[in-house]
Amino acid sequence: MENIYRCEEIFPDIRKFIKDAGDGILERGGCFTLGVLVAGISPHPPLIIPEIGGREIDRVRSTADALVKLSDQVVTLSPETVIFITPHGPVFRDTPAILADEKLQGNFGDFGVPGVNFNVKNDIPLVKAIAEESRKVSIGVKLLKKDNNWIRGRGDMAALDHGIMVPLYYLEKAGFKDGCIVAITFAMLPFKDLYRFGEAIKKAVEALGRRVAVIASGDLSHRLTRDAPAGYNPLGKEYDRQIVENVKEYNTTKLLEMDENLVSVAGECGIRSIIILLGILSDCKIAPQILSYEGPFGVGYLVALLTPVIEEDV
Ligand SMILES: [Zn+2]
Repeated sequence: MENIYRCEEIFPDIRKFIKDAGDGILERGGCFTLGVLVAGISPHPPLIIPEIGGREIDRVRSTADALVKLSDQVVTLSPETVIFITPHGPVFRDTPAILADEKLQGNFGDFGVPGVNFNVKNDIPLVKAIAEESRKVSIGVKLLKKDNNWIRGRGDMAALDHGIMVPLYYLEKAGFKDGCIVAITFAMLPFKDLYRFGEAIKKAVEALGRRVAVIASGDLSHRLTRDAPAGYNPLGKEYDRQIVENVKEYNTTKLLEMDENLVSVAGECGIRSIIILLGILSDCKIAPQILSYEGPFGVGYLVALLTPVIEEDV
């Protein structure tokens, strides 16, 4: 297999780390790839931030606990960079957007707590490499900087959004401090093109020899119950059932071929993040774990861990 190396060559202590994490990967004879060490799917309800949600957080306890577990796993593997894919940055029709300032900042002022804020390093070489690899497959990328003329006066389009800050909050609590991030907003491209964009990201990661984690940020259906924020639609539950089942089985074909009507009536925000993640994980054998799924406010929250492994050659 191209671009896959035995983990010991890259990271001598990785077996101890995995063993300590105790998730059974070693027992399955697995081995981490160079590049993407681990990936996750994360929801982003701001009320899951204790300073925002207060006691309400108990109503999403399963999700909160799962995000702690996901974040611990990411931090244990000590990635140099965490790549986030969000639906809530500036979304363009056919051009993914990547934040390109050296420092990336944001806060939860829109949710009443500006004191919860973030200031993280951007992995600029990786941002440039992703833009370059994407261009090679005819997918343009918008690089967003605070001083871009066309951004001035249009709000802080180059700031971190809550799709990134919610999982980032949990990562920082777990001990993610000195690493870089890359902040990508998906475009409304066809799934096959988003998948190709994911493949380009993977190539960029491998070209630089980065050890990264990837977080695909997205909520599932917003139409699960009669009091759901986007109104009720019985297909919301069916949409969530299919997503959870296909992630659990890591059935990439079924995810890529989800019924368009079902996707559109479900009122989701995260499937495009997931499709890009599938592209990033292309050619990897994946050990999937559903850490949590619930929808207490009529919105589906899925937390999943997707770990690249390869079987030992016999
Ligand atoms: Zn969302």
